[in-house]
Parts: sequence; structure tokens; C-alpha cells
Amino acid sequence: NTVVHIDGVTKEYGQLRAVDDVSIPIEDGEFLTILGPSGAGKTTLLHLIAGFEEPTDGEIYIDGQAVSDEPPYERDIGLVFQSHALFPHMTVKQNIAFPLKMRRENVTDIDDQVAEALELVRLPKDYADKPVDDLSGGQQQRVAFARAIVYEPTLLLLDEPLSSLDKKLREEMRSELARIHEETELTIVHVTHNQTEALSMADRIAVIRDGGLEQLDETQNLYSDPK
Ligand code: ADP
Ligand code: ADP
Repeated sequence: NTVVHIDGVTKEYGQLRAVDDVSIPIEDGEFLTILGPSGAGKTTLLHLIAGFEEPTDGEIYIDGQAVSDEPPYERDIGLVFQSHALFPHMTVKQNIAFPLKMRRENVTDIDDQVAEALELVRLPKDYADKPVDDLSGGQQQRVAFARAIVYEPTLLLLDEPLSSLDKKLREEMRSELARIHEETELTIVHVTHNQTEALSMADRIAVIRDGGLEQLDETQNLYSDPK
């Protein structure tokens, strides 16, 4: 069942083709990693899926609906970027509850959903009332994941989500992300330049270079020896 369809998408900035006629069907519940060197067009592609930018040509469909036809507040997408962009002076709970309040959910539901999200990312309950400023980098990244998934979005977009962490923490968070994917069965589109990160988490990998799709295959097929 295809939940996201990237259909012949091109994005030009003046003379530059940042994304060049890319088509990728994304299955419900899969973890897709877009892998490529810096400047390949990964972030641009992710921004097109999120609706932050409009394609020059082609279209992206989420649940059959063209992204460009849908008002931003109706898009059902969770986002985690390299810099997690939490509200530093607000508490953990206020940060996680923010998207729920935007959706005008009622207060008892919010408390339950925040508690559930904290449990999913393995943060202790009593962290809820700490200012996020008091947390370590890794803990803050867990809060960012909790905030992105608390309202059970159709799609989770991750742009180099672990690259601000040190090596040890990055390895720990790789397996945490894989676990969260398994437990939530969320559809995830993840962008990285890091091959190890792609291999350790993705169901499928799309390799892009100079804006174009070079390879698209299941992770075990891509880097296994053909002989
Ligand atoms: P990646 O995420 O793979 O590093 P990007 O999608 O950020 O690649 O960028 C792809 C290409 O498009 C780069 O050459 C970049 O400089 C260019 N680019 C990205 N955004 C813009 C923009 N808003 N205006 C002009 N050029 C851009
Ligand atoms: P990443 O680190 O994910 O590759 P970048 O640092 O390349 O992302 O880009 C960060 C932001 O700057 C993006 O929103 C991108 O659209 C914009 N950007 C990238 N290259 C250019 C450019 N040449 N001109 C204008 N904006 C750009």
C-alpha cells in the first residue's frame, strides 16, 4: 500500500536542478532512507515532501492527496531536523504538548499522550516538568522525537536527525530509532549522507546524486555482494 508517491519531481533554483525527475513510491510503514553526498538534493526533496517548497515539475501525493493542494495546517507530518529546534525555556511536557494544542485536543488527552510519548522514547515520567535546557543533547533529541510522533502523524520526516550528537550517542540513538519504528509502525523518510546510518536503520535505500535517483532497493540487496 503506497502512502507517499513522489511522482516525477523536479526542483530548479535558477539554472540549478537540485532535484531531477525523481520518482519514489513509499509503502505504508516502511523506513526509507535517502542517501547521498552533501549537495545531492536530499534536504530539498524532504522539504518538497513536507510542502515547504513547491516542485518545478511533478507532484508529491500523500494518501492520494497532492501536497500542493493541501493547506499547511492540514498536513499530517512529523519532523525532526539536525538541530532539534525545541523551545528551550519551555518544559519537556510543554514542548511535546505543543502540536497537540495546535490541534486543539483536550487537556486530559494531552496528559495521556505526553506520558505515552515519554515512555516510547524512554524518558522518565518526572522529566516532564524540567525545562529542556536542563537536559543533555541526547535527551533533547528524544524530546524532539516525542514531539514529532505524539499525534501519530501519517509520515515522519528525519533530516540528519543524529548528526549533532557525538559518536557514542549517535550509535545508541540509531538503535533507539529502529526500535521506535518497530513499535509505532510509522512511515519514515530519513535523509543522511552517512552510509552506516542508512544501513543500520533503513528497510529501503534511495541513493541520490546530483539531484537524480541513482539506485532504489531494499537495504540487504544494495550492499550485499552480488556473487
Ligand atoms: P543536500 O541536502 O543533499 O546536502 P540540498 O538539497 O541542501 O542538498 O541542496 C541541493 C542543491 O541545491 C545544492 O547545490 C544547494 O546549494 C542547492 N540549493 C538548495 N536550496 C537552495 C535554495 N533555496 N536556493 C538555491 N539553491 C539551493
Ligand atoms: P543540509 O545541511 O541538510 O544539506 P543545507 O545546509 O545545505 O542543508 O541547507 C540548509 C537550508 O539552506 C535549506 O533550507 C536550503 O534550502 C537552504 N540552501 C541551501 N543551499 C542554498 C543556496 N545555495 N542558496 C540559498 N539557500 C540554500
